[in-house]
Amino acid sequence: MSAPRVVIALGGNAMTAPDGSARPDDQRSALTAAMEHVADLIADGTEVVLTHGNGPQVGNLLVKNELAADVVPPVTLDWCGAQTQATIGFTIADALEAALARRGHPRAVGAVVTRTLVDTADPAFARPAKPVGRYVSAEEAARFAALGQDWVDFGERGWRRVVPSPQPREILDAPAVRALLAAGVVPVAAGGGGVPVARGGDGVLHGVQAVLDKDRTAALLACALEADRLVIATDVPGAVLGYGTGEARPIGRISAAELRGHLTAGHFAEGSMGPKVEAAVRFVEAGGRRAAITGLDGVADGSAGRAGTVVEP
Ligand code: ADP
Ligand code: MG
Repeated sequence: MSAPRVVIALGGNAMTAPDGSARPDDQRSALTAAMEHVADLIADGTEVVLTHGNGPQVGNLLVKNELAADVVPPVTLDWCGAQTQATIGFTIADALEAALARRGHPRAVGAVVTRTLVDTADPAFARPAKPVGRYVSAEEAARFAALGQDWVDFGERGWRRVVPSPQPREILDAPAVRALLAAGVVPVAAGGGGVPVARGGDGVLHGVQAVLDKDRTAALLACALEADRLVIATDVPGAVLGYGTGEARPIGRISAAELRGHLTAGHFAEGSMGPKVEAAVRFVEAGGRRAAITGLDGVADGSAGRAGTVVEP
C-alpha cells in the first residue's frame, strides 16, 4: 500500500505565542514545537503537505505599511499575503527539516508562493466583512477610507479595516506542489489561503484586495492534490456541540452528512470553527476519505482517525 497523502492545515497557535504575540522568536518557538508533531507523522511514512494561516502576520505588515506610508510606498494586501507565505514558509522549513533530521529521516522542505484564483463576481466583494489589521481612531479611519478602503466602527475598541473574503476557486500553483511531492520534497503551500488573484477580461492575472480563509483553501488544496486525508490543527482538541455552554459535547467520529446538519444548525462560530467544519465536510463530500479537526498534539492520531473530530463518508 502506498503512503497516505495528508494535507495539514496549521492554525495560528502553531505560529504565535499563546498570547497571540507574533515576534520572530515567538513564531520560531511555536513552529519548532508544532513541527515535532508533523515530523512524527512524516517519519511514520505519511506523505505530508503543509498549509497555514497568516492572520497576525498580515495584520502586522499592514500596520507597518500604514505607519511608514510617508517614507516608503505602501504595498497592497496581496503583496502582504505573499510576503507572509515566504517568511512563514522558510521558518517552517527550518523547523521541520531539523525535526526530521533529528529522527534520522532527513528530508527537504520547500515553500511555494501560491496564488489562489477567485471570481470577481463573488458576492463577498459587495460586502467586505473580514476585519484585518489594528484598531484605529475615527479620524485615522476616515483618512484611510478616503483612499478607497472600507473601515467599520467596532465601538469601544475603535475602527478596523474590513476586506472581502471570497471563496477560493482554484489553486493556480498546484502543479508546482505536485512536482515537489514527486521529487520527495515536503511542500508548504497556499499559506494564508493563498495570494488572491483574479483573471481580467484580457486573461491576465491581477492581485485582488481580499483575504482568503485558510481552512477553505486547505480543503480545495487537498482536493486538487487528491489527498487521502485533511487534518486541521488548531488550539482546541476538536469541534464541540453547544460550545461555551453548560452542555458542551465534543464531537468525535461523525459522518459528513450528520456534521453538515450541525453546521447548518449554527453550532460553529463563523470566523473560527465554522470554516474548519465546512472545510472538513466539503473535503469528505468531494471524495476525501477522512478529515480531522484536532489540537496540534493530535495531528498524527487525528490523521489515523483516533483523535479529535473525525469526519468520514
Ligand atoms: P485557527 O487559528 O486554528 O484557525 P481559530 O481561532 O480560527 O483558530 O478557531 C479555533 C477556535 O474556534 C477555538 O479556539 C474556539 O474558541 C472556537 N470555537 C468556536 N466554536 C467552536 C465549537 N463549536 N467547537 C470548538 N471550538 C469552537
Ligand atoms: Mg481561524
